[in-house]
This record gives sequence, C-alpha cells and structure tokens, in this order.
Amino acid sequence: MNSLIVILVRYCICTDSTEKLSLLFEGGMKCRRAELTRYRLCPIRPPRNQWYATLIEDSKCGLINRKFAETVYRLKVPRRNFCADGASTAPSSKCGPPGYDAKVGHYDVAIVGGGMVGMALACSLASMPLTKHLNVAIIDSNPALSGRFCIKKEDPPDPRVSTVTPATISLFKEIGAWKYVEQHRHAYFDKMQVWDYTGLGYTRYNARDVNKEVLGCVVENRVLHNSLLSCLQNAEFQKTIYPSRLLNLHLNSSSARVDSTSSGLPLHGQGPSVKLDLIDGGSLYAKLVVGADGSKSRVRELAGFKTTGWNYSQNAIICTVKHSVENQCAWQRFLPAGPIALLPMDDKFSNIVWTMNPNEANDRRVMQEDDFVKDVNNALDYGYGPHPKSSMFGNGGILSWLKADVTSANELFEVPPKVVNLTSDRLVFPLSLMHANNYASNHVALIGDSAHTVHPLAGQGVNLGFGDAFALSRVIAEGIAVGTDIGEVSLMRKYEAERKAANIAMMAVLDGFQKAYSVDFGPLNILRAAAFHGAHYISPLKRSIISYASGEQKLPLFF
Ligand SMILES: Cc1cc2nc3c(=O)[nH]c(=O)nc-3n(C[C@H](O)[C@H](O)[C@H](O)COP(=O)(O)OP(=O)(O)OC[C@H]3O[C@@H](n4cnc5c(N)ncnc54)[C@H](O)[C@@H]3O)c2cc1C
Repeated sequence: MNSLIVILVRYCICTDSTEKLSLLFEGGMKCRRAELTRYRLCPIRPPRNQWYATLIEDSKCGLINRKFAETVYRLKVPRRNFCADGASTAPSSKCGPPGYDAKVGHYDVAIVGGGMVGMALACSLASMPLTKHLNVAIIDSNPALSGRFCIKKEDPPDPRVSTVTPATISLFKEIGAWKYVEQHRHAYFDKMQVWDYTGLGYTRYNARDVNKEVLGCVVENRVLHNSLLSCLQNAEFQKTIYPSRLLNLHLNSSSARVDSTSSGLPLHGQGPSVKLDLIDGGSLYAKLVVGADGSKSRVRELAGFKTTGWNYSQNAIICTVKHSVENQCAWQRFLPAGPIALLPMDDKFSNIVWTMNPNEANDRRVMQEDDFVKDVNNALDYGYGPHPKSSMFGNGGILSWLKADVTSANELFEVPPKVVNLTSDRLVFPLSLMHANNYASNHVALIGDSAHTVHPLAGQGVNLGFGDAFALSRVIAEGIAVGTDIGEVSLMRKYEAERKAANIAMMAVLDGFQKAYSVDFGPLNILRAAAFHGAHYISPLKRSIISYASGEQKLPLFF
C-alpha cells in the first residue's frame, strides 16, 4: 500500500504524459499484487490519431482508481505506431531514451508469420486486459494480410481446410473470432465413422456420447485466417503489419537495448530487444520474437533450435468434391497405403484428404477427373476389401454391458455418400513429423508448425498450433502481472513446458496410428480389429478418445 502512495505522489508531480501512463500502470500492478483490485489500463483507438487511457476499476481499489481516472481520462498520448487495417505503416516515433533508434520500429512482440497460428496469437493478445496494450508487429509477405481479399459464400470451397476441435472453437469464441467464421461457409459435424480395408472392424462416434452437440467443425483455412484478421482489425490494439519476410535476427545485441516500449508503457523488468532484419532492407526491434513462420521456420533456424523428425514417405492429395446429397458425417477409412478422409463442407460439398505413396499421389493428381472420382468412390466403399461386419466380435458380445450408455455403440456401419464430381484442383502435400527440441530461449518462442508438424490423419495440426498461441499469450499476461520482462527465458520456458507435454503426447498418438496402419500383417490386423471394437463398444474408452480428440482432455488416459 505504501508503494502505491509513493506512485500516487510521483504521478502528481510528474509532467510528462507518457511517464504518467507508466506510473498508472505500475500502480495497477502494485494494486494487483496487494490483491486490492483487478486493474486494467486500456489504450483505445480514438479519432484523430490520439490514444486515450481509460482506467477500468472495480470495487476494492475503487477509491484510489477513481482519483486516477478523473485526472487521466482525458490524457492524450501521441500515437507512435498505427496500422491502417492490414496495411504496413512506417514507425514514426521521435522519442525514446539513449540508444533508441527512432528510424526503426520498437515493439513488445514481433510475430514472424501471419498465418492462422500467428494471427491467433495476435488476436489472443488483443483480447486480454493485461496484454491488449502491447505493441505488436506482424511480419509476413502473404498478400492475404492486406485485408483486401473477399471470400464469397457462393464460391466452391477451397481445398485447404482444417477440422477444428471444440476446444479451438471455444478459444475462438473467447477472443471474438468465431462470429466471423460463422459468417462464412463452415460445417459442424456430430458423427464420425472410422474403419479399415480388412473388413474386420469399424467404430462410430457421436457427439451425444459425451453430451455435446458437435465433434468438430470443418472450415476452410482462408476462412479461419480471414476471420482472425477481421477480429484483429476490429480490436483496439496497436499492431503494425510488415508485408515482408524475416532475413536475420540479432539476438542479445547490446546496441539493441531499449528502456521503454514504444507504446510508452514500460514492462516490468526491462531487458534487451532482438533486432530483426527484413528482406526488403527494413529492420525492427522487439522484446519477444515469436516464430509462427511454419514448418520451414526461419526463426527456428536463426535461433538455433534443433529438430527431431522423419518423413512419412507419404503424400496427401486434397481436393473438394460434390455429392448429390448432403454429407453430415466425417468419414475416415484406413487403406494399405494410408487413410482417406471425407469431411463435410456444407451445401453438398466435401473435402478429401487422401494419403498414399508419393508416386501414386503424382499419378492421381493428373489423372482424368472421372477416373479420380471412380477411385475415390472405390476407396470409400468396397475397394481394397469388404465392408466390416458388426458381428465380428458378436455385436459387442462380452463388451455389450459396457456400451449401454453411449449412443454410437448401437449405430451400424454406413457407406459414405457417393462423390459425383470434383470442384477444385487436386493439391499434393508431402507429410512429415517434425518436433523442435526446444520451443523457447531468451526473447524467442516458437508456435504452430514452426515448433511441430504432425500427420494430418486426425486433423490435429493447426489445433495444436492454436493451443500454443493461446498458451503463449496467457504466459505473457502472467509475466506482465508479476512485472517480468516478457522475453525472459524463465517465462518462455513456462510456455514451453506446458505445450511440449501436450504436443508430444498427441504426436506420439498420431505417429502410433500412422505406424499401426502402415503394416498389413495378419495378427496385427486382428489386434487393430480388437482396438476398433474396443473403441466402438467400451463407453469409457470411447468417451476418453472423443474428449482427447476434442482437445478437452490433456492426456490420452482412457479410463
Ligand atoms: C493435407 C493437410 C491437411 C491438414 N488438415 C488439418 C486439419 O484438418 N486440422 C488441423 O488442425 N490441421 C491440419 N493440417 C495442419 C495445418 O494445415 C497446419 O498445422 C497449419 O497450417 C499451420 O499453421 P501455421 O500458421 O503454424 O503455419 P503456416 O500456415 O505454414 O503459416 C506460416 C506463415 O509464415 C509465413 N512465413 C514463412 N516464412 C517467413 C519468413 N521468413 N518471414 C515472415 N513470414 C514467413 C508464411 O507466409 C505463412 O503465412 C493439415 C495439413 C496438411 C498438409
């Protein structure tokens, strides 16, 4: 409380508006630490390029905050950076302590890569009271970030889609991005069927098994990306988009030391910044550099993070197809060379993700459309082997006492709706597993595909990336709350510890599946059939699998 009074006095005699804001922020932190209040300082974007500080107070520290609020409400702080809805702007600060280079931008966080995961991080930072004042740069030459792309609902769906889990949907709702997804084409599904070519087993899942309405939602990647961009554009948040690419990083550069952030709100525990050089010759400084630049991450390479992984010697061929009836279920069949998935896309469209060996993929990419459609229908029906029979293990037999309370255990095998024609190009992607040995070091963190890539067989890749983005933003907020430098390695390690465990567990499960289904061997086929039956009939196992795949259960503990 004493320190709060000292801050109050310093505030009263201070004439500099930026310093006043700093003191207010510090006061808020002291207040928070003393558990007197939850105190939020929210820069909001007002007209005529000026920033107003607004104090939002609550009950316990109301008296002190009200005094601040009365004086500061009309306080105007010159704006140092702005972003005109996706366009890049040159930083314009002329202020700053010695060593502060006014010609280049100084940021709290530089996000390298404005793909789905990088944008999710920016939106999450923009949505939290403790992080929304941060000054963030996003570096990516992807023209989609200009915000000038318009997605028409009547256009056929783009073949690049993601199945997002209920956990991801909740997080998107929390940051305010899901409402934009809902304005575009998206397909919730509440049923899923998985089976294999041996005819020995199948399993079905139903959202009602876990008292939920949906198992997930299939959304085009461009819709997810565009929704995050809209969310960010409509947030009161200092962001600058650099339409460029990262060339070089200068870590621990003493010349890069800055004593305050360009937002004018110093973070507790001042530390050095990292200098980022861009391919267009520009540079900027940031306290924390986040690599969200995909599987070939330049940040990962420059920061010296080693990786572990392997190629699957499999390619995925993806495309959009049309049916004569609506598809409302997610289907996946394991074939000898890899799985084929048929994912609902609304309006009688579906998305195909078909994994096979690279030569087959190259042939199927260029073959006649009619032949390709025939191959797809074959692969989802009688091709490679018979339909599974429910009676293989006596229709649940000895397991029937366990199935009573799950809806899907009584559902019979179904054949997916036939594909009538193709409505997009066929795209081919090589598949690999890659994991960065570390996700964090001093002033650098990796998120999304820059930290890990997985096999798409369970549609988890970007969901893991979103998990990283939200976890990192929460850790940054925690750091700010206790006055730590946001680039501090101990803080970044907290993020790493949380996400590494979750990502490695999921990677192990997916890799195990990939390997178990790559071998055609009698006894293994029987084991797989038993696993299918277990997953179909044993309700605790079934519920656990659904929760884990939904992103709602941390570890694959099946009971
Ligand atoms: C066939 C297939 C199907 C999939 N299906 C699913 C699914 O159903 N569900 C799911 O969860 N996941 C799925 N995934 C995985 C998912 O697509 C990825 O995990 C996701 O795209 C990763 O997003 P990201 O933002 O981390 O990286 P990216 O999408 O790779 O974005 C990286 C961004 O960084 C930018 N960049 C790169 N280098 C630089 C640089 N030097 N400087 C500045 N910017 C740079 C790029 O321009 C890009 O915009 C699938 C993947 C494949 C291949």
